[in-house]
Amino acid sequence: MNTQPRKIVVVGNGMVGHHFVDEMAKHEGYEITVLSAEDRLAYDRVHLSEYFSGKTAEDLAMTSPAYYNEIGVRFFTNAKVINIDKAAKTVTTEAGETYAYDKLVMATGSYPFVPPIPGKEREHCLVYRTIQDLDDIQASAKAGKVGVVVGGGLLGLEAANALKELGLQTHVVEFAPQLMGVQLDQDGGALLRSMIEGIGVQVHTQKATSEIVDGEECVHRMNFADGTHLETDVILFSAGIRPYDNLAREFDLAVGERGGIVVDNNCKTSDDSIYAIGECALWNNFIFGLVAPGYTMAKVTADNIIGGVQQFTGADMSTKLKLMGMDVGSIGDAHARTEGCKSYVYSNQPDQIYKKIVVSPDGKELIGAVLVGDTSEYDSLLQYALNGIELPENPDGLILPSSGEKPTLGVDALPDTATICSCLNVTKGDIIAAIDCGAVDVGQVKSSTQAATGCGGCAALLKKVTDHELEKRGVEISTDLCEHFAYSRVELFHIVQAEQIKNFGVLVEKHGSGLGCEICKPAAASILASVWNDYILKPDHVSLQDTNDIFLGNMQKDGTYSVVPRMPGGEVTPDKLIVIGEVAKEYNLYTKVTGGQRIDLFGARVDQLPAIWKRLIDAGMETGHAYGKSLRTVKSCVGSTWCRYGQQDSMAMAIRLEDRYKGLRSPHKIKFAVSGCTRECAEAQSKDIGIIATENGWNLYVSGNGGMKPRHGDLFATDLDDETLIKYIDRYLMFYVRTADRLTRTSVWLENLEGGLPYMEKIVKDDHLGINDELERQMQNVVDTYQCEWKTTIESEEQLKRFRQFVNSDAIDGNIEFVTEREQIRPAKDEEKKYGVKIQAVDLTLA
Ligand SMILES: Cc1cc2nc3c(=O)[nH]c(=O)nc-3n(C[C@H](O)[C@H](O)[C@H](O)COP(=O)(O)OP(=O)(O)OC[C@H]3O[C@@H](n4cnc5c(N)ncnc54)[C@H](O)[C@@H]3O)c2cc1C
Ligand code: SF4
Ligand code: SF4
Repeated sequence: MNTQPRKIVVVGNGMVGHHFVDEMAKHEGYEITVLSAEDRLAYDRVHLSEYFSGKTAEDLAMTSPAYYNEIGVRFFTNAKVINIDKAAKTVTTEAGETYAYDKLVMATGSYPFVPPIPGKEREHCLVYRTIQDLDDIQASAKAGKVGVVVGGGLLGLEAANALKELGLQTHVVEFAPQLMGVQLDQDGGALLRSMIEGIGVQVHTQKATSEIVDGEECVHRMNFADGTHLETDVILFSAGIRPYDNLAREFDLAVGERGGIVVDNNCKTSDDSIYAIGECALWNNFIFGLVAPGYTMAKVTADNIIGGVQQFTGADMSTKLKLMGMDVGSIGDAHARTEGCKSYVYSNQPDQIYKKIVVSPDGKELIGAVLVGDTSEYDSLLQYALNGIELPENPDGLILPSSGEKPTLGVDALPDTATICSCLNVTKGDIIAAIDCGAVDVGQVKSSTQAATGCGGCAALLKKVTDHELEKRGVEISTDLCEHFAYSRVELFHIVQAEQIKNFGVLVEKHGSGLGCEICKPAAASILASVWNDYILKPDHVSLQDTNDIFLGNMQKDGTYSVVPRMPGGEVTPDKLIVIGEVAKEYNLYTKVTGGQRIDLFGARVDQLPAIWKRLIDAGMETGHAYGKSLRTVKSCVGSTWCRYGQQDSMAMAIRLEDRYKGLRSPHKIKFAVSGCTRECAEAQSKDIGIIATENGWNLYVSGNGGMKPRHGDLFATDLDDETLIKYIDRYLMFYVRTADRLTRTSVWLENLEGGLPYMEKIVKDDHLGINDELERQMQNVVDTYQCEWKTTIESEEQLKRFRQFVNSDAIDGNIEFVTEREQIRPAKDEEKKYGVKIQAVDLTLA
């Protein structure tokens, strides 16, 4: 009997090749050899862009030489295979080394397609696929000002984001009439375009590049077939991918008409001893450009090699992602091409939300969806689609804004066969089995099932299912912030403070795992800002912030920004008013007095923001933080200074409070008000902190709210003198900042706090926990380290690059258009726009 280990050679060590190695290494009796053309072992290509926001090649690595040594895998980097001898069953590398195999696994992936445009080989014309590519892009960006991405698909937009992050004025040039034409329908694509243009990336659709020649102001000039042109210093091609099937062609394995190594349901090629998996494989005339199908192919191949019968039967191509801070999701038949199908559409222009579901002709099953601007329903919709769960009677309720009647898909309703993690093909049944085998939290379920270790998109659903199953078994539920941190927000706050951690990189390295996500990054940014009060756009912090914070402005429905200078207590001098008026006139901004008693200037383009702020700051004003989770306003009446009923100087107190707390970053926004007497003209009882003057001092109200869920503030203390009032507020607010969950207003926080108001009174008034000195010291540190973020920004050349736009193009941005109403501008409605509203959808190959 032959006891020699069977020889497995894997060509390519990308994500899929590595996954195969991991699967195969579970079985004994095999000698695995990995040959990688790159100069390093597998790394996480899905999160490649994070290389530009501070991740290193080591952070992205999916394996290491030490790990391969430990599991007994031979590996060779810089080992490009150039020859396959099918008869002798050997492969040979460029260096002339030959390796024998019993089974050969081709995991050669794909390469970016570069259209045959004359000039494409010029310097600074690059692609976006490998760590080496990113190093090249970084080097080219240093010397340039403008960057263009050719291709407006999913990867193209990710590349555009990278160029923007590198400080280049960024353009996307797309041949088709819309962005992300594979995943989004026409209206979804149009909304995404307007959102992207709103943050300063200029989009040019229906443009075919005919040549690239020397530019006049920039390195290159791109000439388009319609006679227009664009100048740029860097060009990134992201016009689709092509499978690396050259070896298959040369050595006579079947390939598809449009490329790809043909495989059957066992992932076997036309040669019985050779398999192909991942982006190089063509299954059923289809190449999957996502990692999840590749992982399934890897698993099926390993199973087949050991004699199993698993089959690859296709994969779901649904996607949910965050592109430049915008939420986008696409499920199944997004274009509603199934005969007889019906669609439901919800469109909310003011909030920039578009949702569409496509249902089967009998209305019973969900077969497709498009979500732009809000993907909160993605997980439920995907479950309906993947598991054929019967839709409720009125399926539109699934995408309409929350109401009491909104149908919900409880995790109980999911069958055990429901796929929770598509990347690793983990079902609800697998999760239940892991819990039955002893897993008692999400972390343990993850390590035993591998769920959420691919793209991570299913993390929220995994947590829901795990918590639900644990709850059913009477196990206490974890309060972990997210899959990357096994700590609650409160615990992370203490860790940051106790260990003096100053950036996310150190926090995740010491106490978390992975690269972070949209839950933990902004939460960590807020904690770091509350504790250290650093400038939020420092390189260490900028990638953690959301769009409003990145541009220090509130993005409006048409993609422009609002400018809100601080006006403590609503007080403003005539000179400052004049400057505000002059700025508004010069930049043609809409002006309005807000509910928080200050003046909001609407309609500023991102590139205008620095100049506008410079004028305001030169006139003695500063940022009003209208964009941040921080103190917004302290509303006030004129109090005893002018009002004949006034008991105290409410104006002076409001200004003092606004100046004190203006730099405080918190779990959610905070609003104050001060009234000069019980007539309550400033409506203080509807604010997070409300103060009403009495004959003897001040009454303090806490945790009121006037927003979506109004709440009357609770009377916390009466007749306080000025200093005690401020001490109490310091302690109350700092305790809130330390202990509230992310995105929780003071009203909800207090209602959920064990012990409620009496407990807070014991802490703040009686120093029940003995931490009042610390709370006050911490607040004083925030006060002492205050800086106007806009002042810091306009003083930094580097930071200003973030706000540049379109220097060398006269193109009109079709989505930012104004009309005049009541003598001021307002955003044009669709029917009033001249440009770019209705466009025809055209299919794209994966770009
Ligand atoms: C920027 C970016 C973002 C992405 N985002 C997502 C996402 O959000 N979700 C998602 O599902 N997918 C995403 N993808 C796609 C995903 O990364 C791929 O589907 C996945 O990496 C494919 O893995 P693979 O192993 O098949 O191929 P690859 O990762 O391309 O690996 C193939 C390897 O084989 C090597 N090779 C080729 N020829 C030879 C040879 N002759 N000899 C030796 N070695 C060879 C190559 O150099 C390469 O290292 C993204 C891709 C990029 C570039
Ligand atoms: S209440 Fe606030 S959120 Fe609603 S429309 Fe007015 S400004 Fe917008
Ligand atoms: S709250 Fe009292 S003091 Fe203030 S304006 Fe109204 S009546 Fe006057």
